[in-house]
Amino acid sequence: MKNYYIGIDLGGTNIKYGIVSSEGEIVTKGIIPSRANLKKDVILSNIKKAISSLLYYSRKNKIKIKGIGIGCPGIVNVEKGVIMDMVPNIPQLKNVKIKAELKKDFHCPIYVDNDANLMALAEHKFGAAKGYKNCLCLTIGTGIGSGIIIDGKLFRGSFFAGAEFGHTSIFYDGIKCRCGNIGCVEMYASARAMVKKAKKLLDKDKNLLLYKMVNGNLNKISTKRIFDLWKKGDRLCTKIVNETCVYLGTAIGSAVNLLNPEVVVIGGGVAEAGMKFIKKIEKEVTKRANPVASKNLNVVKAKLENDAGFIGAALLAQLSS
Ligand SMILES: [Zn+2]
Repeated sequence: MKNYYIGIDLGGTNIKYGIVSSEGEIVTKGIIPSRANLKKDVILSNIKKAISSLLYYSRKNKIKIKGIGIGCPGIVNVEKGVIMDMVPNIPQLKNVKIKAELKKDFHCPIYVDNDANLMALAEHKFGAAKGYKNCLCLTIGTGIGSGIIIDGKLFRGSFFAGAEFGHTSIFYDGIKCRCGNIGCVEMYASARAMVKKAKKLLDKDKNLLLYKMVNGNLNKISTKRIFDLWKKGDRLCTKIVNETCVYLGTAIGSAVNLLNPEVVVIGGGVAEAGMKFIKKIEKEVTKRANPVASKNLNVVKAKLENDAGFIGAALLAQLSS
């Protein structure tokens, strides 16, 4: 018999949500702005609105909801349902007791975890990492999140602070990161880092195609535009993409030497650049990881795309109840 769960994916820009069956089918889904710049109460009330609309749908369609899963950024104490730290995009959520807050309004069992952990859970059960025992899943967008599956189970570390791939350092004397560390890969290979680099390079040379493409408005530079021009062979964008792949290959190579996974799944906005980009990263990983570890390693694109977060959140509710 199929069971049904609510999944909520709280991001810096949007809240994505849906009802997902125990077999991974999406019954209904939606998206609303998270309004992350406002007070924590506004964000919590937006999460509550998303849950209420799904509960209304479930009542109308006679679907019994067995649990609610919430994915949020940062280090999450899964037992207490509290965001502990590392939420630079929504800092007002630090120390917020998400589970306790939602319990006031909803009577279903509620579970909370880190969003990238939940993406890994979803990709492992229903997506690109299905059938593999050991996986490293990355989500490369504004920041770089990650989730690790070991022996088929999510690995969270001893104090829920594990799997912070984005904050592994690739330069001991590099750029200072918001986490306090120096040279974190997130500072070099995230979407934000790519756009920042493009702006810096265009400041020096305004005679470039990317500059013309955005009519001189540097705020219009996006990774999509960088990847589009890279595919057309543009010199500046090729430089940015090549360097991004070297940075990612360096960090993933170290992670592969540490974990020896069968598969590295790459998701998030940057993965939308497509297979050519994924293959380029794989090449860099192969150069760096030890040959025994990299020989049978697959570097693949995430399958569940924008839905991975809320599917993983619903799956968390399923696995925890
Ligand atoms: Zn960092």
